Amino acid sequence: MNQVMCECGFAARATQEDQVVTDVLAHVRADHPDLAGDVTPDVVRGWIEVVPD
Ligand SMILES: [Zn+2]
Repeated sequence: MNQVMCECGFAARATQEDQVVTDVLAHVRADHPDLAGDVTPDVVRGWIEVVPD
C-alpha cells in the first residue's frame, strides 16, 4: 500500500501511487486551499510511504 498522512490527520491509502496522489491533491484543494498552489503531484509523490496492506 502507498500511504500519505496529512498533518491534519487525513490519510490517503491505495495500492496505486497515482490514486494516492489524486486523493491527496483533492484533499489539499478541499481542506488546505492555501497550500494548493504549492502542492504538485511531484510534491505528493515525495510524501508517499509504502506500508503493509
Ligand atoms: Zn489535511
